[in-house]
Amino acid sequence: MVGLVIVSHSYSLAQGVLELTRQMATPGVKIAAAGGLDDPDHSLGTDPFLVQRAIEAVDDPDGVLVLMDLGSAILSAEMALDFVTEETRQRVLLCEAPLVEGALAAAVQAGLGSSLAVTAAEARSALLPKATHLGVHAAEPAALPPVSATDRPIQRRLIVRNRLGLHARPAALFVQTVGRFASSVTVRNLTRHGPAVNARSINLVATQAIRQGDEIELNASGADAEAALAALQQLADAGFGDGIAPLNGELAAPASAAVRALEPAPDVGVVTEPGLADQDEPQGWLQGVAASPGIAIGPARRFEPTVAAVTRKVVANPAAEWQRLQAAMQAVRQQIKTTHGLLLQQGARAEAAIFDAHLLFLDDPALLDPAHEGIFNQASNAEAAWQDSIEATAAAYDALDDPYLKARAADVRDVGRQVLFALTGERAAFCLDTPAIVVADDLAPSDTANLDRSKVLALCTARGGPTSHSAILARTLGIPAVVGLGARVLALPTNASLVVDGDSGAVLVNPDASEAATWEARRAAWLAARQQAAAASQQGAVTTDGVHVEVVANIGSVADARRAIEAGAEGVGLLRTEFLYLNRDTAPTEADQEEIYRAIFDIMGQRPVVARTLDVGGDKELPYVNLGHEDNPFLGARAIRLYQERPDLIEPQLRALLRAAVGHRVRIMFPMVATADEVAMLRSQLERVQRELAGAGVPAPVDLQIGIMVEIPSAAVMADQLAPTVDFFSIGTNDLTQYTLAAERGNPRVAYLADALHPAVLRLIAQVIKAAHACGRWVGVCGELAGDLTAIPILLGLGLDEFSMSPASIPAAKQRLRALNRRAATALAQSVLMLDSAQAVRAAVRAAEAERAGA
Ligand code: PEP
Ligand code: MG
Repeated sequence: MVGLVIVSHSYSLAQGVLELTRQMATPGVKIAAAGGLDDPDHSLGTDPFLVQRAIEAVDDPDGVLVLMDLGSAILSAEMALDFVTEETRQRVLLCEAPLVEGALAAAVQAGLGSSLAVTAAEARSALLPKATHLGVHAAEPAALPPVSATDRPIQRRLIVRNRLGLHARPAALFVQTVGRFASSVTVRNLTRHGPAVNARSINLVATQAIRQGDEIELNASGADAEAALAALQQLADAGFGDGIAPLNGELAAPASAAVRALEPAPDVGVVTEPGLADQDEPQGWLQGVAASPGIAIGPARRFEPTVAAVTRKVVANPAAEWQRLQAAMQAVRQQIKTTHGLLLQQGARAEAAIFDAHLLFLDDPALLDPAHEGIFNQASNAEAAWQDSIEATAAAYDALDDPYLKARAADVRDVGRQVLFALTGERAAFCLDTPAIVVADDLAPSDTANLDRSKVLALCTARGGPTSHSAILARTLGIPAVVGLGARVLALPTNASLVVDGDSGAVLVNPDASEAATWEARRAAWLAARQQAAAASQQGAVTTDGVHVEVVANIGSVADARRAIEAGAEGVGLLRTEFLYLNRDTAPTEADQEEIYRAIFDIMGQRPVVARTLDVGGDKELPYVNLGHEDNPFLGARAIRLYQERPDLIEPQLRALLRAAVGHRVRIMFPMVATADEVAMLRSQLERVQRELAGAGVPAPVDLQIGIMVEIPSAAVMADQLAPTVDFFSIGTNDLTQYTLAAERGNPRVAYLADALHPAVLRLIAQVIKAAHACGRWVGVCGELAGDLTAIPILLGLGLDEFSMSPASIPAAKQRLRALNRRAATALAQSVLMLDSAQAVRAAVRAAEAERAGA
């Protein structure tokens, strides 16, 4: 839609025209005023920078029309064009039309979705009505199509006959139908004497409380007004997608069973759950992806993070603030589309339609216009303006009598909250009063990290894969978890009784008494086995033929370091330094970093610690590192690829690590290395920092080793050339698997492909170990594969030196290694490299196990 800018010498005049114009314009039209000078008392004059900001604020692909009063207003507007981007400049038109009349006419025309040329023509001929009235001559509209009968508003009245009236889904269909036409359409509830409202606004339509039997009046103007009204009539005849219900004793027309199933029964109470709760409650077994072993039994609790309190600020650059809001909305739009797509894939069409309504909220002038107003007229920050707008709309729903419509306030707040998350990146902690199984759409690593371990019995998520970072954290915390269960899991009501089997990835809903008893017994057996492994956890992992294998921990916090020692870790094979700062919205200082590294190194004493430098990007975002949008973040500028352009991210970290490492056995490891050139670049960056510290008299740590993660296939393939340049390799099988099989690690739809036991990945691991050993370098695996009990014999057989895993996995992994024979494992490993699938590898390991047990 064309945007409008009003430029005047007088701030008050510009504001006055703005106010007047807004009265006339369709709510979606963006209008900005640039009046007076940019100073507190708005002295008379014109300011090109104010004009520039106004243009940017209303900039639109359809163009921007600038109307000016006189003299320097024109010069300032021309100058402003030198300050905007070339792209914007191309679509700005400085128009000679009269300011007041032109602005009013242009606002109405822009609201019809007319082009820039048509809008400008309408503005230019805006003196016509006045001239006609006064009997003088004025210019005829130039570019406007000839006025035809269809350009005058036409009217139609309809009776709403579907049983629930225009509640969320029918209202969404109504607005979507209007959206197919260029004409402007208003709707009015005649029965309830409502005002005429813009029919393109889902909120304005829904809050008209249009019920079964109500008569509505539609007014449409524009070239396709007839067609628009005909389509709306057709929609009404079909009961707005719900089917026709009888009115006052009429016979019922049959509605589809699916539609009926979704409608609340006539005597139902207030529906309090948002959107997805309208789904049928799942029963029986649900199959997902095993993410963290163990068995849990308990009541379901939906993870509902609340937004941390919004801080109100006065902003100096409203255009930038508006931009932030747009970006956040775009991110949420994308998320909603993904969920919508998943539901459609599962055949849940009616449930998916709920998300259509959520998408409409994001384009709704009833939400956008007040937010725009708040940002540009009150200089509010995006968070505050958006929250105010959401609350006002939700309150309008709250005020309705109809319990079904009332409950739609939750939908508005739900969408509103998602946008606030996207804006702030902040979620307030989620608290459980009593132990429960947490059910969530997905959990960000920070959500998982903040869960109260003593209360969370298990995690079940609709999305996510076994190597997504939330799954890794669940394993670290020793919480059974099943991910990738699909959107249906979100329809589980609070307190539904669940059994979660983290080993097989299955969840049982509402078990009967005998099932519950069986699973209670299995849980008891699992806890006993865990207890037994824990009792031996401090002993070394020595194979039956006397080979000692190093078992170390993957950690991401000081608490993890303590957990690692308790679990029997002989050191740390991966300190994920980015996990230390997930909950901060400002970068840690060098001193902060040094303190936390020292705390971890002190806990580990003389045990080796591999500290990985910042690995931000992919599915790991840090609030204070703005990575910008990338279509494929897993293939983008992440981890070490940022170090050259952002020395502020890496150099303080290297200094802090080197200072804290004095007196400890620290290894520095670089993530996401793809080429030998990168190793050279990283080494020279590190050496520069080392020289700097030496120059400042800081002692250097002794026994410092420098290594790289091998997690990109190119590094695995070139391992023979990389080995001489480093002290060690640590294979990151999580990323190595996703990049080898081109299957994103958090995406449940490709979880069947992203299997690290695939021989393609195992062959790369074999190649890396061989190349490193040929050069006298040691090799670890710090991906999740190292703690996988099926993979352990293979990795042992391939000659792996160090197994690094979540602390919670250590006792069982050690038990497993103690039972193995290295020579037999070598034969097994060589044979599985020849197989053709991960399933075949698993079967081979099972067969070897059965043979060993039988021997
Ligand atoms: C890996 O990719 O295997 C790894 C250990 O690193 P992260 O999981 O942190 O990406
Ligand atoms: Mg990785």
